[in-house]
Order: sequence, then structure tokens, then C-alpha cells
Amino acid sequence: MNEKIASEPSCADPFEPGMISLAEALAQIEARVRPVIACERLPIRDCLNRVNNEAVKSPRDVPPAANSAMDGYAIAIDSLAEAGITEFDMIGSAFAGKPFDGTCAAGECVRIMTGALLPAGTDTVVMQEQTEIGKDGKIRIDAEHRAGENIRRAGEDIKQGEIVIEAGVRLNPADLGVLASLGIAKLQVRRKPIVAFFSTGDELMSVGEKLKPGMIYDSNRYSLHGMLARLPVDTLDLGVVRDNPDSMRAALEDAASRADLIISTGGVSVGEADYIKPALADLGTTEFWKIAIKPGRPLTFGQIGSSIFMGLPGNPVAVMVTFSQFVEPAIEVLSGTNMRPPRLLPARALDSLRKKPGRTEFQRGIATLDADGRWQVSKTGKQGSGILTSMSRANCLIVLPDDNAGVEPGDEVSIQFLDWAR
Ligand code: AMP
Ligand code: MG
Repeated sequence: MNEKIASEPSCADPFEPGMISLAEALAQIEARVRPVIACERLPIRDCLNRVNNEAVKSPRDVPPAANSAMDGYAIAIDSLAEAGITEFDMIGSAFAGKPFDGTCAAGECVRIMTGALLPAGTDTVVMQEQTEIGKDGKIRIDAEHRAGENIRRAGEDIKQGEIVIEAGVRLNPADLGVLASLGIAKLQVRRKPIVAFFSTGDELMSVGEKLKPGMIYDSNRYSLHGMLARLPVDTLDLGVVRDNPDSMRAALEDAASRADLIISTGGVSVGEADYIKPALADLGTTEFWKIAIKPGRPLTFGQIGSSIFMGLPGNPVAVMVTFSQFVEPAIEVLSGTNMRPPRLLPARALDSLRKKPGRTEFQRGIATLDADGRWQVSKTGKQGSGILTSMSRANCLIVLPDDNAGVEPGDEVSIQFLDWAR
């Protein structure tokens, strides 16, 4: 007998009708997530990683006045003979924060330190190392100098009125320094998005409870907590929601009343009682996407009231991969900034990697530098989407694009470091 069961489409298939690509899913998310509009004015320290609401125009020149970039002597270049050595009388000193308040005449110089204001009558600083002090105490300088040398000009870094930080950018540590250099103490930034999350499943118990037969501990809420805690969002942990329509509806309603983004895990597989779908249909508009990726093919995306809903798969690795590929970009848009392009680096594969064409795969990798300073990557053992240790041991994802049909040792692959790579 050669009978065969005509199987239904499943995640074992490389491709099935109605699948969308990773890029299409991201484009949909980008088009449909509306940013948080509300703002708050905060001391600049508290603005780190927050999204700037209005372009910042510089109220002043930085540096505010011309000053010295070196320790040396300030002179007027016109005092310098065209050839040979010129001797100068030193008439005083200028320190950072303690300017020389006289005026330098022809043939005179002022001893000057880095950061000190350029004294009146001077336009050039000659480095100390390029001068000599004569027996008579005069400062001897040769002709090999040009006007303006070793001077930081007023406004050289920032000009008054110039836009220094655009609206809609996430503020980095250097931005805080720039704001401080302008004397700006507070800034208007977007409110942090509020992200609610819960796990679904009758089999789930929480840490601290004694594990009953047939049950497993809920790990997704902890890895989600960990990933969310690294982001500038406020979080609401709504616990475990049981697989029944009433609990699901109550959880979604509660989440939608308090959060900008709702994340659930589990409850989207074919086999199990499907409680999310009807609850979602009652409460909002949702689509069930099959994305051509592995792990993490099914993703629910939609809207409940004014909140965005993202239903992630249940498998622990799939949760983390879909979070990094879809939830984080959604949070970027929600925060009022642009999606960041994925940071991919080339690396040489050390292992062979099995892969069918037709979908993008995210295998878990450990990247190290080889003797030539180039990245090489090995996989973290078993790659099943329930094998969470593959993720905890990894420092990167090995991203194998749709058309890739497998990797041999020595092939070049793309890797994406995990934010928490060690
Ligand atoms: P589901 O999509 O709900 O069918 O879940 C798929 C697989 O992931 C099942 O083996 C679940 O037991 C497991 N799973 C679902 N949610 C969790 C969770 N919160 N923690 C650990 N495993 C989970
Ligand atoms: Mg389940």
C-alpha cells in the first residue's frame, strides 16, 4: 500500500498560500501603528532613550567664543617674521575659565592653556612644543605657522539657530551632552508607551507554585518582562489567562483600557481550543498572519479600542524571536520614532545549518572573533522553538533569508546581535 494522508498546510511547509514575508509584515505594522502623541517635559537626564518631540534649535554658539585647542602661546600672526625666528615678550597668561584681560600688541604673546579664551589682539596659538624660551626669557617662534592655527572658533561645533536634534529621534548619551552644552535643562519628549502582556494556557503555572502533573511553568512572561524592561516603556504584567472565552475577553478588555500595546503569548496554534479569535472578533479588528519565518510563523495583529494587539506564538523561542522582529519595531513606531533597520553583520559559519528556501529563519548563534578579527558563528545546539536554552546561550541570531537553501561550514551568513549579547 502506498497510501498518503493529504496534509493540511502547516508550519512544516516551506511555503503555503496566504503567507506574507517578513518585510510585508513590518510594512503593515509601520503603516498601522499610531504613535503616542502625549508629551512631558523632563530634566535632560530623564530624557535618555526617550523620543524628542520638537526639533531643538541652538540658542547659542558652541563654543561661545574662540579659545585655544592647545597649551602654548597666543600671538598675532602678523607679528611673525616671514622667515627666521621672531622673539616675543610674554605679557601674561590665559587659563580656561580665567581669561587674560589685556590686549596683546605686536611683538607680544600670552601664555595660553587649552580651553582659555583667545586674548584680544591675537589670532593664532603656537604649541608650546614648537617654541623655545631664550636666556632673556623671550619666547622664540619660527616662521612655520599659519593664521588661526590651534584655535577653536566660536560656533565651530554648533551655530546659534542651527537644529542640533531633530524631532522624532530617540535621544542617545551624546545628545544629552549636546543639550547640556547648550545650557538646555529640560526637554519635551513623548510619553512612554504602556505595554500590557499576558500568557495564555491551561497548562501554565507560575513560579512559586508547586508543579502539578501535566503542567509547566510559564516562562514567556519572564522573558517578555526581561525584553520589555530594557526598553523605554511602562509595563503591565497581567499574569496567566486561562483558555476560556470569558477570561480572554476580560483580560483583553482590561488591557485595552490601560495599555497602548497588548502582547499575548500562546493560544494561536491549530490544535488547541481557540479562544483568542472569538474574543478578538468581539472586541476589535484583528488579522491572523502567517509570516514566512521560522520560528514564529503565526502572528495576530490588530486593534482593540485605541490599543494595538500583537498575539505571539506560545513556544518560548518563537516568542523571543517575534518580539525582536515585530514587537520592538512596533514599539519604535508607537514611541514616535522610526523603525530601526536591523543591524546585520557578516560572519563565517562554523556549522552546517539545515534550511529550506521560502522563509526567513532565525537560528540561535554564538558569534566570536577569529584570529583576523572577523566574526565567525556557531549554532547553539538544538534549534527547536521550545528549546529556550538555545536562546539563553546565544549572543546573536543567525538570519537566513528566504532564498537560502542551507549553509555549509565556511559560508558567509548574516548575524544580528542580541541586545544583551555577552
Ligand atoms: P500554544 O501556541 O498555546 O499552543 O503554545 C505552543 C507551545 O508553547 C505549547 O507547548 C505550550 O505549552 C508552550 N507555551 C505556551 N505558552 C507558554 C508559556 N507562557 N511558557 C512556556 N511555554 C508555553
Ligand atoms: Mg496554549
